[in-house]
Amino acid sequence: RSRREDHSTYHHYASNLDIDYYRRYRLEQDLHYAIERKQLFLEYQPKVDSWTGKIIGLEALIRWQHPEWGLIPPNDFIPLAEESSLHLAIGDWVVETACQAMKTWARAGANLIPISVNVSPKRFLIPGFEHQIEQALLKYNLSPHLLELEITEAALIMDDPSTNRMLEQLSHLGVRIALDDFGKGYSSMVYLQRYPINVVKIDRQFATHIADDAKAQAIVKSILYMASVFNLSVIAEGIETIRQLETFRALNCPNIQGYLFSRPVPTDVMQSFLLREILYPIEACSLAGDST
Ligand code: C2E
Ligand code: MG
Ligand code: MG
Ligand code: MG
Repeated sequence: RSRREDHSTYHHYASNLDIDYYRRYRLEQDLHYAIERKQLFLEYQPKVDSWTGKIIGLEALIRWQHPEWGLIPPNDFIPLAEESSLHLAIGDWVVETACQAMKTWARAGANLIPISVNVSPKRFLIPGFEHQIEQALLKYNLSPHLLELEITEAALIMDDPSTNRMLEQLSHLGVRIALDDFGKGYSSMVYLQRYPINVVKIDRQFATHIADDAKAQAIVKSILYMASVFNLSVIAEGIETIRQLETFRALNCPNIQGYLFSRPVPTDVMQSFLLREILYPIEACSLAGDST
């Protein structure tokens, strides 16, 4: 083999894998400065009552405005943060920022409704998390019932006794716990029995198929039945069309969240939603028929 051939082989390789590697490496490096450089921000998506269309809660979702690469979605950088201890600082920042937003909206005259934040599975294994939550609530003088923590079963699958202790302590504090993406992975029903969970969030994949898939409907029905027995609240995620909304309503699913009502929006837009106490015209929507 000549030197030239070797070089071109290397070059071919570089153009594919190394670009991803380079981007990943840079993102990981840059993430260290993202908080202090004020590149992280939260958007908020309303959760809506299926029958009245009233906003009953909000979910905070993190975004990263990267100076070179633009807007980076959480699925591209949260996993990087979780590989190091960076997820701790980011997680604290999210809770702090969400509580601060609540205070801002309250000062502007909005009635406060519960807000949820997504919590990395590893966070529950770090002692002191409950104190961090308690401090943030005290600092902004917010009732613990206004804060909900969304966890995925990845946090529970390790079946670590310290996770259960942490969840018990948080529940004791009055904070609510939601099991996110339910139905996506193993979705062991035992989790709902074993851990102090208050809310089940039905994974978006069900919304995608629900209108035309009797089996998906049967699964959602059984989740709703189980939730009623366990006295859990239920919300369906990812509702994009009126047909999907109608199907979830027919199944008696009490709460919904999705682009049909609103995409995640910045703090000031959410403030105007809350001040108008916007009621989504669900009845009117359903008469208009499905747009998709
Ligand atoms: P998730 O908690 O299940 O959040 C729902 C995701 O679905 C969000 O994507 C949201 O924008 C999107 N979504 C909402 N309604 C619809 C819809 O009708 N159709 C479709 N196609 N999508 C919809 P996003 O914001 O990109 O977040 C992705 C995931 O990143 C979240 O999934 C959550 O697991 C994670 N994440 C977001 N923010 C944070 C955070 O602050 N901390 C941690 N640890 N994870 C976060
Ligand atoms: Mg979530
Ligand atoms: Mg989800
Ligand atoms: Mg998710």
